[in-house]
Amino acid sequence: MKIIDVHAHPVFFGKGKTKPETDKLVAYAKSLGIEKMVCLGDVLVHGPNPSAEQLEAINTQSEQLLAWHPDFFIPFCYLNPTLGEKSLRSELDRCLAAGFQGIKLEIANNARDPVMEPLMRAAAEHDIPVLQHTWDTLGKAMRKTHSDPSDTCLLARRFPDTKVIMAHLYGFGVRGVLEAIGLPNLYIDTSSCLPFAGLIEYAVEKLGPDRILYGSDIPIRELGQCIGRVTGSDISPSAKEKILYSNAHTLFKLA
Ligand SMILES: [Zn+2]
Repeated sequence: MKIIDVHAHPVFFGKGKTKPETDKLVAYAKSLGIEKMVCLGDVLVHGPNPSAEQLEAINTQSEQLLAWHPDFFIPFCYLNPTLGEKSLRSELDRCLAAGFQGIKLEIANNARDPVMEPLMRAAAEHDIPVLQHTWDTLGKAMRKTHSDPSDTCLLARRFPDTKVIMAHLYGFGVRGVLEAIGLPNLYIDTSSCLPFAGLIEYAVEKLGPDRILYGSDIPIRELGQCIGRVTGSDISPSAKEKILYSNAHTLFKLA
């Protein structure tokens, strides 16, 4: 069984940044069949609204992971859309030159906000996916900055030429799956929360198996449990293979 994990934080609040810690994580992940892992960065270490300098430091750490394990990590460039187009273009260009393959967005702003436009255009130009933190925040004050699935799906609808990965199937649940219907540029990842029976099956039934990507959200979650929620689900072997591996393989245009 081959696996690509599209949602991981190998460095989290400063932990995991040394080479021995990274080597240990890579060896453990490979022992479970994980061939490649997207590293999203230590996204909350400087709070929800990082400055350009703080983003550069976080992305430089991801660059270091890539240098240590170039065949294993797929780094995403962590950006803050509220800093404006000039700032995001310059950090994105720097990261793309270093081999980054996507953009990570957290909770600096809601995915509905107009500040998203330059970023979404830049992602489309470079044909790289945007992974947007998403959670069920309907009716909650936190929605101002924590995108609800309806916000992230609206973003994908507004920018049909940009690929969007809506993070945290287990954080947005059934309502998010329903919101994701009919959006060919929107992918969902299976990360976060504790697993519960039936959700993967429901997502495959409603969306088909081609837009679902395996993700873990380590170190907040445990790899074995995250893999088990896919392997233990009642879907076809070919759907499991697509979710765990082929869909991401195609998305990242891997050889
Ligand atoms: Zn995450």
